[in-house]
Amino acid sequence: MSYFHRREWLRAGVVSLGSFVVGGPLPKDVIAGTRRGIFDAHLHIPSDNGENFQWSLVTRNMPEFVAYLDKCGVRRGVISSSWSNKAQTPEDYRNGNREVAKYADRYQGRFRGSCVITPFRIEEALREIERCHTEYGFIWLGEFCNYMTGYKYDTPEWRQVMELATRLNLVVQIHTNTQEMRYLAEAFPDTTIVFPHLGSSRDDIFARIEIIAKHRNAHIDLSGSGIERVGILERAVKEIGADRVLYGSDFTINEPSSVIARVRNAFLTPADREKILYRNVERLLSGAGKASK
Ligand SMILES: [Zn+2]
Repeated sequence: MSYFHRREWLRAGVVSLGSFVVGGPLPKDVIAGTRRGIFDAHLHIPSDNGENFQWSLVTRNMPEFVAYLDKCGVRRGVISSSWSNKAQTPEDYRNGNREVAKYADRYQGRFRGSCVITPFRIEEALREIERCHTEYGFIWLGEFCNYMTGYKYDTPEWRQVMELATRLNLVVQIHTNTQEMRYLAEAFPDTTIVFPHLGSSRDDIFARIEIIAKHRNAHIDLSGSGIERVGILERAVKEIGADRVLYGSDFTINEPSSVIARVRNAFLTPADREKILYRNVERLLSGAGKASK
């Protein structure tokens, strides 16, 4: 353990003392009271191996990560590990998924775990998805980010991932460009897919909203670029409908509270805001992982 790591552990200890007040697991009576709490569909935890998507670190470990979510008013979320996203070997993503299971368990009531794999050694990847589902109870896959380790979605291997997800009735969250989004939404109409990010340019955003609107299996989460453009959220809800638009932040990369502010200030009904901030993700989670289709 390096000096840096020792310092991290000391810091974690100090913060966890404070987590009796903020950043801790939610006690049962509090869970009941947070049923209307904001549910973030897109969170990347800081990994125990030091991997963290944040460019300039301010939330270095789980207690600090959770305390920041508290500050932003995010009470619940789907978590995945950056260790898994950057995996060079199956062992890396297995380690990442194990730490997600550990934290989902430790912070019971706050987080639902999500499994991430890379498709290079496909048999091992499929086994890991099954294992995350049966042993750890995960019903969400992703966020998959093919650009991080350089794989494609229009391959026989990726088809196997999607088919397994469909058979197990898992939600699949996939980072895509617009072309990949169109392909996946069309090729896997029976798979529940969450596509993060509204998009960057005006044409890109409009095209992505149109694709989601056309495919009943597709959902958008509001993280990343696009949401900061006033009027885009209203357009997404008008074209797609409020049931398939989800609050997601992409924290630890992006700021959770700015997306919440846009949803709260948007020209939407209170019922639509509730759907976006927590009801839609609750519905996806409660319907997932049960019977195979
Ligand atoms: Zn992300």
